[in-house]
Amino acid sequence: MWARKRLDLDWGDLRSAAVHGFSPGRRRALAQAIESRWSAAGDALACLSVRSAFDFLLGALGWQPGGQVLVSAVTIRDMPRIVEAHGLVPVPVDLDAEHLAPRLESLERGLTAQTRAILVAHLFGGRIDLSPVAQFARRHNLLLIEDAAQAFAGDAYAGDNAADISLFSFGPIKTATALGGAVVRVRDPELLEAMRQRQLGYPVQSRGDFLRRTAKYAALKALSARPCFSVLVAGCRAAGRDYDRLVNGCVRGFGAEHFFRRIRRQPSAPLLALLARRLATLDRDRLRIRAQLAEQIMGRWSGTAHFPGSACRPHTHWLLPLWTADPPRLIATLAKAGFDATQGQSLTAIPAPAGRPEMEALTARQVLAGVVFLPCYPELSSIAIARLAELAQRECQAADVASAACQGVASAMPRRAPLVVGG
Ligand SMILES: *Cc1c(COP(=O)(O)O)cnc(C)c1O
Repeated sequence: MWARKRLDLDWGDLRSAAVHGFSPGRRRALAQAIESRWSAAGDALACLSVRSAFDFLLGALGWQPGGQVLVSAVTIRDMPRIVEAHGLVPVPVDLDAEHLAPRLESLERGLTAQTRAILVAHLFGGRIDLSPVAQFARRHNLLLIEDAAQAFAGDAYAGDNAADISLFSFGPIKTATALGGAVVRVRDPELLEAMRQRQLGYPVQSRGDFLRRTAKYAALKALSARPCFSVLVAGCRAAGRDYDRLVNGCVRGFGAEHFFRRIRRQPSAPLLALLARRLATLDRDRLRIRAQLAEQIMGRWSGTAHFPGSACRPHTHWLLPLWTADPPRLIATLAKAGFDATQGQSLTAIPAPAGRPEMEALTARQVLAGVVFLPCYPELSSIAIARLAELAQRECQAADVASAACQGVASAMPRRAPLVVGG
């Protein structure tokens, strides 16, 4: 069975993580090295996670309760949760399905006298064009925060200068992971300093915590190898356990318990050492091959298909989402053929705030309801790629026909012609 995802780090990285975990390191020097590599302008800050950085940001801003943040509607649950914890109201902004970029009319509709900021996520490895959103933000004097947690693209992209804040994540399932860690760029030096001071007031992640993470992800990496993963899935089935939930539960970074205590910490020396190593020894080929692979799978489509967000340029294809009218059917068929596809459980469409039903993000909901993430990483054999594309195509067409007959949902989704490989 081909696992849904491979952790994007190798055994050398894990060995180095273990070594750093046991040896003393200078946090300050390591953080400075990461920050100055990231940005010569001195506007970067290394953190424990994007969620930590976002929490420090809202803490430093100290807006009056009741302030509103326009949030591109699809993101991980914790982001709106952090907004709420600071007494602010997350207001979803609906997306267009081709780029998963915020729609201007939805931004306009969401704007009130209480609106303070816009939080926009680049999804699945694509990068949206921020300029229309930035113009809107400038016109209405709003802070523009870009969540690039899924959009790390190597040294090609250190954050869009149109944004006030750029957030990059190196959490366990992200590109070039350091099993945690984040880099945030903050263009306002005073705000950056205030965030830095907030971070300094919190405890440091312990070495034990980092080492436990290293051990856990080493185990997961071993398990995600094809033969091991097949055994795991078979074992779960025999025991009547839902392995989809098991796997998703394993990689969720911070447990629900004591969430804020866990994100409000400084990164440990070994975490910073691993992050510095990942940035210094970036595997550009792996990034390139992954993107090509996704284009190859999409390019095999004869006829049309919907891959939400695939119109973004550039696109690293961190994930390969395919939209279908019948996700359980597609997942079951692929599982039978040895591919572990999933609907995922971490992304959510933010609900409209009470009393503002017009802000319901209908396209975002529709995209998430039908999206299935296909395995797509350089270890996949070319035979596997051909088989995956063929099966997925057949299933989607069958599901489309069946659903169009009864409700026409599929026809409401935008379609795209196959992409030119390497385009
Ligand atoms: C992963 C992710 C985050 C959180 O990143 P952490 O560094 O794990 O806190 C935030 N937003 C999006 C869109 C993500 O995918």
